[in-house]
Amino acid sequence: MAKEKVTKKIVRKVVSKAKKAPIGAVKCNDRLCPKHGREKIRTRGRTFEGNVIRKHHGRVTIEFERMIKVPKYERYEKRKTKLHARLTDCMAEKVKIGDLIQIAETRPISKMIHFIVVGVKDQEASI
Ligand SMILES: [Zn+2]
Repeated sequence: MAKEKVTKKIVRKVVSKAKKAPIGAVKCNDRLCPKHGREKIRTRGRTFEGNVIRKHHGRVTIEFERMIKVPKYERYEKRKTKLHARLTDCMAEKVKIGDLIQIAETRPISKMIHFIVVGVKDQEASI
């Protein structure tokens, strides 16, 4: 009798593990992800929108234009800003080159990266 009880317990454990797997269907092993990560990095400060011009493993580069007034000529000139942002595992498939995405400021993650990708605004927007 004792042996049968032991085998039943093992079966139950296996079933419970199998049930847990579909819940975490979104695979995200990024430790800094604001939603799934262990550290759950906080966003604060400024947010920007821009087009993705480069995509790497765990990082994207976005670019956007801004207008600056030139007092001498009383006119405006266009300037471009490039920013690097952390691309979490769960966002990696959604973001493509040319997309208009939104990034939010975080604490400095590395020398270049102080932002994290928050969402996609427009798929395949014109650059
Ligand atoms: Zn995630």
